[in-house]
Amino acid sequence: MNRQSACASAEAAMAHSRRRIDNRRLQIPSRPKDECGLFGVYGHEDAAKLAYFGLYALQHRGQESAGIVVSDGERVSEHKAMGLVPEIFNERILDSLKGNIALGHVRYSTTGSSLLSNAQPFRIRYAGKCLAIAHNGNLVNARKLRSDLEASGSVFQTTMDSEIVLHLVAKGMRDGLEQAVARAMEQIKGAYSMAIMTEDTLIAVRDPCGFRPLCVGHLDSGYVLSSETCALDLVHAEYEREIKPGEILIINKDGLKSIRFETKNRKAQCIFELIYFARPDSNVFGQNVYLFRKKQGELLAEEFPVDADFVMPFPDSGNYAAIGYAQSSGLPLEMGVIRNHYVGRTFIQPSQSMRDFGVKVKLNPVKELLKDKRVLIIEDSIIRGTTSRTRIKTLRAIGAREVHMLVSCPPHRFPCVYGIDFSSRGELIAAEKSVEEIREFTGLDSLGYLHVDNLVKATHIPREDLCLACFDGQYPVQVEEDFSKYCLE
Ligand code: SF4
Repeated sequence: MNRQSACASAEAAMAHSRRRIDNRRLQIPSRPKDECGLFGVYGHEDAAKLAYFGLYALQHRGQESAGIVVSDGERVSEHKAMGLVPEIFNERILDSLKGNIALGHVRYSTTGSSLLSNAQPFRIRYAGKCLAIAHNGNLVNARKLRSDLEASGSVFQTTMDSEIVLHLVAKGMRDGLEQAVARAMEQIKGAYSMAIMTEDTLIAVRDPCGFRPLCVGHLDSGYVLSSETCALDLVHAEYEREIKPGEILIINKDGLKSIRFETKNRKAQCIFELIYFARPDSNVFGQNVYLFRKKQGELLAEEFPVDADFVMPFPDSGNYAAIGYAQSSGLPLEMGVIRNHYVGRTFIQPSQSMRDFGVKVKLNPVKELLKDKRVLIIEDSIIRGTTSRTRIKTLRAIGAREVHMLVSCPPHRFPCVYGIDFSSRGELIAAEKSVEEIREFTGLDSLGYLHVDNLVKATHIPREDLCLACFDGQYPVQVEEDFSKYCLE
């Protein structure tokens, strides 16, 4: 993609972002939402329970809905609902899901509404066979594919781009499952890590750029697929490898079979998985997330020495970079703000007159520690800036003498079109304001962002194998449609 078209795409994306923001202003989350997580099991008698534990470990990737589809080789059963994994499943439900192949999914909607009908895995029957899909990512040619399919007689049940993939696979089934999946992958464009399940087969697929993580492990004589390695640890599965970008991995009674449907020179692994989304105990793109974030903090300390009494994170976002900063700079690390871990989804939003209450119920500062101190806060990102502004106001109100902030990545200037929710729900303060203007808006004494070169340096990955589009506007997969058409609602 050339620079001009990248910029045009970025501008279209930002214009759309602003329109959506106006419509949803009262519902906008102040932090980016996780996208989706998937977990598959092949060849284990406790497939449903393993999938349940796998989804439990991946809950951070999606909290709107969850589901598990199970097959005993002939019959397929499923359970899906809105809510968190432990709210949706219990012993009785898991016992009813019989079989040794399972596919599970936790969802946060990036396309399609937050409805039960859009919960995944999504399943259809075609020519007497079951096809189920669990998808993480966003297709950038969904609208065109969907209208082509509708013109040729396909009837859609949901607004999700994942359903498009199943229709494409179903259309190619006369040539066999492998060919059908390979042809479908050749037609879809964008970011996707997905798993497809039939009565007797589990298939893992990763897009040619490898935007989203997906790995395979083995457990006893069976196999496990997972968005992140932390879920493998929980079920005592042994990590084998990542699914390669452009690879289809077929798991059936004959074992593993790998097909490459596209070999691209350039990968585009999402740096935001490492910065923010993945759990710190996961290894993503061949790299441990905890150590990556700590390295970000070390590089921040080199780039921005700050004269402060101590360094602290707002838990949990800046925790690991703050540790890295403290160790590298010699500044003491303090936990100046305490997080309440028991604030759930059902927390009732306070009225306007009680708005500070909503912030304090999650994070409460330790007044005696902060009073009269020069504080350096480490954050992993500033998206809208409003949360930072409220927090800094609180620190000043309790007597912090100076409040400085360092962010462990560059300013987010461009929306994401590959499945992270600041495509449509995030107001990117850095798209409109300079760093100095953001400092002023948030009420900080000083503000610094990690340079993109240092961000790349914190990875073990060549720059050309990363997606950095939300920082530099260089979208690795060309946006083929008007951005406003990505959301099929
Ligand atoms: S634009 Fe940003 S968030 Fe989206 S895939 Fe690229 S690096 Fe990740």
